[in-house]
Amino acid sequence: MVVVEYAPDRYLATLMTTFYDPSCLEYSKPGHPERPERIARIAPVLKHRHPDWEWRSPRAAADDELLRAHSRQHVEHVANAREDFDLDTPDYPNIATYARCSAGGAIEAARAALRGESAFSLMRPPGHHAKRDRAMGFCYFSNIAIAALDALENSAERVAIWDFDGHHGNGTEAIVAHNRRIQFASIHQFPAYPGTGAKSFANIDNYPVAPFTRRKQHVEVAKPALEKLIAFKPDLLLVSAGFDAYARDPLLQLTLEREDFAKFGEWLSNIDHPVAVVLEGGYSEDLPELIDAFLTSWND
Ligand SMILES: [Zn+2]
Repeated sequence: MVVVEYAPDRYLATLMTTFYDPSCLEYSKPGHPERPERIARIAPVLKHRHPDWEWRSPRAAADDELLRAHSRQHVEHVANAREDFDLDTPDYPNIATYARCSAGGAIEAARAALRGESAFSLMRPPGHHAKRDRAMGFCYFSNIAIAALDALENSAERVAIWDFDGHHGNGTEAIVAHNRRIQFASIHQFPAYPGTGAKSFANIDNYPVAPFTRRKQHVEVAKPALEKLIAFKPDLLLVSAGFDAYARDPLLQLTLEREDFAKFGEWLSNIDHPVAVVLEGGYSEDLPELIDAFLTSWND
């Protein structure tokens, strides 16, 4: 299936580079769904099945990189908080360091994509709920918005963001809204946490999907969302890849299967633009298989 027509000078990505640092497994809270075990099993699976893929440790994002998306007050609050940000978003010891590394993974993945690599940031915490002034929904810094704004600052004229996490990317939306150089699309369950994402406006396209929507119908919503982003002619496509729209994910009531995430990857493999993927949510035991299916079909 071809999502867009091939350009004569079709962009060819030949390498998969994964940005990962096992230090992102160091923080946890008993019973919290955003737990280290989500990620810990993924790297061994990918390394075993794809021995030719390259692995790099991301650096921590610097102040000036964070401050393109967040207020100084928020950056300082994440560093110095004395209590949980909300019920979902604990104040872990050193969370600012972990969140900076996760943002750094997104920046590095975007830069690698612009150099011609297929790039994936396999880091936690996730980012797409974090707003300019607020940590929420397991997220502290908006990794993908920070990466988009870095790309615009350094080499890209236009950036598109495709968010297929099963939750609305409200933080990304809030940060990039009305930025004419960014086009954003989020496909997500509605109603569900965080309660937003029912309406589209300006450069923001929201595609709400009702609980228990049939998977075929959900996929049929995700495809035109991506096609509209490609029509924006971005220099870089960033993907907020969350896998909690999976049928057996404990947090949502959506119905996607492994084959559907493989289909998303297949669409990306046919796209004539640099692509970087940043992990968001995904809380089922099958997360490694979902990610491998997605990445493998993207990299084929
Ligand atoms: Zn999610």
